[in-house]
Amino acid sequence: MLKALLIDPSRFQRSVIASVFVRRNVEVDMAESAAAGLKALADGRYDILCFSLELGDMRGTEFYREAQKRRLAGGMPALMLAATPDKKVFDDAIAAGITDCFPKAEREDLERYVEQWERRANRRMSGHVLLVEDSDTAANFCIEVMQGLGLKVSRFRTAEEAIASLAREDYKIVVTDFVLEGLQTGLSVIRAVRGQSGRKGELPILALSSIDSVARRVDILRAGANDFVTKPVVAEELAARLGNLLMLRELFDQLAAQHELVKEMALRDGLTSLHNRHHLMAEMPRLIDEAHRKGEPLTLVVIDIDHFKKINDQHGHSRGDAVLVAVADILRGIVRGQQVLVRYGGEEFVLALPGTTTLQAGLGAERLREKIAAANPDGLPVTASFGIATLKAGETFDPLFSRADAALYEAKRGGRNQVVSG
Ligand code: GH3
Ligand code: MG
Ligand code: MG
Ligand code: MG
Repeated sequence: MLKALLIDPSRFQRSVIASVFVRRNVEVDMAESAAAGLKALADGRYDILCFSLELGDMRGTEFYREAQKRRLAGGMPALMLAATPDKKVFDDAIAAGITDCFPKAEREDLERYVEQWERRANRRMSGHVLLVEDSDTAANFCIEVMQGLGLKVSRFRTAEEAIASLAREDYKIVVTDFVLEGLQTGLSVIRAVRGQSGRKGELPILALSSIDSVARRVDILRAGANDFVTKPVVAEELAARLGNLLMLRELFDQLAAQHELVKEMALRDGLTSLHNRHHLMAEMPRLIDEAHRKGEPLTLVVIDIDHFKKINDQHGHSRGDAVLVAVADILRGIVRGQQVLVRYGGEEFVLALPGTTTLQAGLGAERLREKIAAANPDGLPVTASFGIATLKAGETFDPLFSRADAALYEAKRGGRNQVVSG
């Protein structure tokens, strides 16, 4: 449970401020003076500090300077409340290292801060961290902090071992020291992570470095690290930076998933859930290329339901829809591997069959024709006509499609419910 220390000489003020924290499930200790506050800080362990500008025995700003000098207030947010925080009070407070300064009378700003801080502080993280750190002391410290946040950690001393583990494990974030045992530095780890293909190459990377020079920081960021922490590592800083990187990563993942969904929706037909014409257009160049390159056949089958307009006219649009779904299901049932099936438009479907000759496609189409004619979807007699064409040397999609469509036209003209190869 999170714990706050409140310091204010007025018992009434203390209870009012305490309620802000208690409402967020934060445990509260109280002190009535700067001296009592310093003693409480020395004796206890707190996650946040909140005090007034006027403490009776000291000004709040001085109190905070003293707490810092005695190393009692490191790492935790320090909030100061002032009756009327003018610019000078605010500037002094920030200069003293105080996190923020709020007016005493209106508690909304304080409430908002505490709410966000509490949510952040209690946020559990999950996932597997790759930690590359040769110093046992530093590694153990980081491991304790990260495990405390809910993260699983795998630690390696050398870049070589860490890099080898990248392929095996599904890490969510990489935390790497700069100077390591072995021949390679943290830069090698960063480059190896960024060199991976796909999403793995975009893993968030947090670098640790004890050499705090601007040049080194620039090197690290340029190599592809997203952020870094200077050693010795402060627990709160490590937690805050890990939290930010993981949150960004989650947002990117959500964005990528939504993008996939939108793409998938754009390429699918809502009624039959078959792919649509756009999908065929996206796939055909690759299939045609491969067929030409390997010298293998590629056959296109265009399928059109016969007198479909009559079905709509006589039985209604919704029964027409049911027929489309039923025919789509029959077609879906025969599609294998690399074959592509789409609802090309209205009551027209296209099958692209790599590695299939005209003869083979004709036999398959004949079986489909029989199946559709025997199906009686929604109790209605339904038939379909088929036009077939096989890719010629050097041919592109448009002429291939025209030949299949011309064959379909012949099938219609010949009385429908038949297969014609062009
Ligand atoms: P043919 O045998 O020559 O192919 O005749 P047809 O009546 O099947 O062909 P036509 O192209 O004249 O009519 C196709 C009809 O398909 C017209 C259109 O209203 C209908 N249609 C297109 N999309 C849908 C749909 O999603 N649902 C329904 N119910 N009907 C559709
Ligand atoms: Mg090191
Ligand atoms: Mg038709
Ligand atoms: Mg048609």
